[in-house]
Amino acid sequence: MKLELTNAEQWIKLFTSKLDENVSTLNELDTAIGDGDHGTNMERGAKAVKEALDKQTPADLSALFKTTAFAMIQKVGGASGPLYGTAFLDMSKAAKDEADLAKLVQVGADGIKRRGQSDVKMKTMIDVWQPVADDLSAGPLTADQVDQALQSTKGMVATKGRASYLEEKSVGHLDPGSQSSAYLFDSLIEALGE
Ligand code: ADP
Ligand code: MG
Ligand code: MG
Repeated sequence: MKLELTNAEQWIKLFTSKLDENVSTLNELDTAIGDGDHGTNMERGAKAVKEALDKQTPADLSALFKTTAFAMIQKVGGASGPLYGTAFLDMSKAAKDEADLAKLVQVGADGIKRRGQSDVKMKTMIDVWQPVADDLSAGPLTADQVDQALQSTKGMVATKGRASYLEEKSVGHLDPGSQSSAYLFDSLIEALGE
């Protein structure tokens, strides 16, 4: 399906709200298998995205994703800032001549893989982005599909990022970046349903 600008704006705004509301959840997940800052990192990014969008209404999808990317890159920090930043920057470039939602999310997932030297089954946000891209290409995305992808990270051994230092001890915990990505795609479902 084609992603309309109004839906996309709503998508990004809902995402920033979910990040604001779930700072402690994301920090707690990151305390278990990382350094406890993922919620705080994403909260900074959410604030910057909101400020940038309030200052200037994006003219098109490409501009919306670019604004989101820059705010994330400048403010989130950590591993996740450049990764989300790359995803949105690549989606911004692709959106210049592509509006298909599934294709855009796949472009974002590919950007994260390239930037993070990562792939599925490494217990990173890719374990949400890639299944969601696949699900979107098959039909409408559901909250159950997003949750299934998120929950699948629990049983994985982390082989990328800070959680990989824990090796087998990372099993039994959700990946924090997968949880924030689940908020992203839950926001997408809500935005499309309105
Ligand atoms: P940091 O680990 O630097 O403190 P954050 O806590 O903000 O950064 O983000 C951690 C999240 O980033 C992880 O939960 C994981 O989903 C994601 N991540 C880390 N490294 C990679 C990578 N190489 N590829 C994809 N995602 C990654
Ligand atoms: Mg962290
Ligand atoms: Mg950190």
